[in-house]
Amino acid sequence: MHVRGAVHRPGDSGWDDARRAWNLSVDQHPELVVEPVDAGDVAATLRFAAGAGLRVAVQGTGHGAAARGGDLAGALLLRTSAMRGVTIDAQRRTARAEAGSLWLEVAQAAAPHGLVALHGSAPDVGVVGYTLGGGLGWLARRHGLACSHVSAIEVVLPDGRRVRTTATDEPRLFWALRGGGGSFGVVTAIEFALFAVEEVTAGALMWPIERAPAVLRRWRDLCPQLPRDITTVGRILRFPPLDEVPAPVRGRAMVLVEVASLLGEEETEAHLAPLRELGPELDTVATGDPSVLLHLHGDPEGPVPGIGAGQVLADLPDGGIDAITSRLGAGADTALVGLELRQLGGALATPTEGAGALGAIPGAFAAYAIGVPGGGVGAEWISAELDAVMGALSAWSTGRPYLNFAEAPVRPEQAFGRTAVGTLWEIADAVDPGRVLMPSHDVRR
Ligand SMILES: Cc1cc2nc3c(=O)[nH]c(=O)nc-3n(C[C@H](O)[C@H](O)[C@H](O)COP(=O)(O)OP(=O)(O)OC[C@H]3O[C@@H](n4cnc5c(N)ncnc54)[C@H](O)[C@@H]3O)c2cc1C
Repeated sequence: MHVRGAVHRPGDSGWDDARRAWNLSVDQHPELVVEPVDAGDVAATLRFAAGAGLRVAVQGTGHGAAARGGDLAGALLLRTSAMRGVTIDAQRRTARAEAGSLWLEVAQAAAPHGLVALHGSAPDVGVVGYTLGGGLGWLARRHGLACSHVSAIEVVLPDGRRVRTTATDEPRLFWALRGGGGSFGVVTAIEFALFAVEEVTAGALMWPIERAPAVLRRWRDLCPQLPRDITTVGRILRFPPLDEVPAPVRGRAMVLVEVASLLGEEETEAHLAPLRELGPELDTVATGDPSVLLHLHGDPEGPVPGIGAGQVLADLPDGGIDAITSRLGAGADTALVGLELRQLGGALATPTEGAGALGAIPGAFAAYAIGVPGGGVGAEWISAELDAVMGALSAWSTGRPYLNFAEAPVRPEQAFGRTAVGTLWEIADAVDPGRVLMPSHDVRR
């Protein structure tokens, strides 16, 4: 194979590093790992795979590796991690990120211009995988999904052809890529809008886990009254007993409400008053630089094992809160580290004009729970508890999963609806008739 990037084969020194996903629970065993350095390398890799009869699994970081799983027999793992680089056009308020770029890199490049991106909760999630799956971030109730603010996507198709897709060039493919995932080609770069934000009011209110039933009820009642400039997350979290965890919460189970607001301090405080009445033990909400948003959720930065599951809820009545607190609340013997409920609504409720395959996430909350295997907690126990809590919450599910939070295969018609999935299938058939690509979530499953 003629590529400038690294090629790793089983048995080579560095093989285990090359095949490792960010999610260490996924043990990937491809035939070969290739790390292209540019679009030419990507095309050469795809041509090589076609000649060798190999399928191609594309990966930026491996945050989303669980849905595809580690069995990559007969497949080449194409890792975009060497394709880095972010360019900011401050006047047009846009960024161009190469395929392997991380959100932290975009945020750092945009910040000197007073601009922010529609990133999510973790600094080291890949820009491309996140955006192809939708992109639900702190500012989504104000601006919508990240994929709705993409202006161009550069792709190498499975036959090696390079195309730049926009609303006017290859518009069907452009539509499919924005929320439809990785079923259509290897993205080599992506251009998207940035937003001028000088300050945010953000942080977390925390109470001991015993207060979870009351706090989650009060927060749930508050959500419909919050303007779209404020986004909150209700969460139960068992902080690990690690030195890097701040002493007041180290090793403790807490109930949290995280807050990200585009409003000033005074206005935000007024909205949060009903929560403050409950006397949080800790309160980190403060007004300052928007860079805090990348760390507000405290996601692990660097590879960790994790087994998670999610679903979108139309509603969260008391029965739903009881289902959560009885399994993860005070005194529960649980394998799960946490469960979060991300507030939806606002601009997420309806597709923006000209949106792609995923234009909205109708519903009230995106729920996601996770367990970390190790230290006496086995994967089977975690899976059983995920099934139990997600099963209990399914009574209030919208029935339409959000694929970025789905860590197991999902029937595509469930995620996109029958009409959209028919079009996605047609587009995938046209660009990848041989089903070479192995995306995390295949629209032709
Ligand atoms: C700690 C953590 C925090 C998260 N926070 C959020 C959040 O706030 N909001 C949210 O919406 N999601 C969030 N997610 C989910 C995340 O967006 C998905 O897992 C996403 O798929 C990760 O993209 P990636 O490129 O980092 O991962 P990868 O595992 O590398 O990629 C995931 C999939 O995207 C496709 N893909 C990636 N790169 C390319 C490419 N160049 N060309 C074609 N296809 C490609 C492939 O199908 C691949 O399997 C989070 C996940 C984790 C683990």
